[in-house]
Amino acid sequence: MRLVFLGGPGSGKGTQAKKLVEKFGLAHISTGDLLRKAIKEETKLGLTAKKYVDSGELVPDDVILGMIKEELTRERRGFIFDGFPRTLAQANGLEKILGEMSLDIDYVVNLQVADDLIIERLGARRLCKGCGFEYNLKTRPPQAGGKCDQCGGELFRRSDDNDEVIKNRLSVYREKTKPIEEFYRVRGKLVEIDGSLDFDEVFEAITKSVGVG
Ligand code: ADP
Ligand code: ZN
Repeated sequence: MRLVFLGGPGSGKGTQAKKLVEKFGLAHISTGDLLRKAIKEETKLGLTAKKYVDSGELVPDDVILGMIKEELTRERRGFIFDGFPRTLAQANGLEKILGEMSLDIDYVVNLQVADDLIIERLGARRLCKGCGFEYNLKTRPPQAGGKCDQCGGELFRRSDDNDEVIKNRLSVYREKTKPIEEFYRVRGKLVEIDGSLDFDEVFEAITKSVGVG
């Protein structure tokens, strides 16, 4: 199974992708996670990417496509791209890379969530420093107040989850990423999912629509 998860910031892509890869033994390829790791480790890639990520702008396409190529050199039974592609140039680049490997995307899952709900969700989002598990103080709070239920780690707020940067991420999404929906629609791959529902309901809708639920 090879999937792309499309959807604005805070649409739940990452959380849903993690659950699906766990259940089906897929690789989770999140460009956002890869970039944050590179920034933390201060690699050359990280140093290039930092200013874009901090301001909610997109990292240049050639940098991202280089990263993806590298990820795909390892043997993959199946994968979910989370947060990639994000521009038409990336979508075209991906088609070319996969074509050279005689592979194709099965479905593109588009998680739709209204802007006001996105802003509310990202404001309440907290992540675990230890294991990366994602909480929402309103809808999915940790049981043991302030600490991670999975590993006891400390919870933190992502540095680009502040009002100003969130607004920019939303407008960048509308301008640069939205057009990809049409790219995959004409290829018959786009699956529309209402991402405003509860976590479990969204997961069920996704598994049904990609034929594993
Ligand atoms: P979200 O979807 O919630 O905005 P991500 O973790 O997917 O969060 O992305 C965080 C940031 O990383 C983006 O705002 C952007 O700067 C950068 N980024 C991630 N994926 C890409 C990509 N495919 N192309 C360009 N920039 C990216
Ligand atoms: Zn944890």
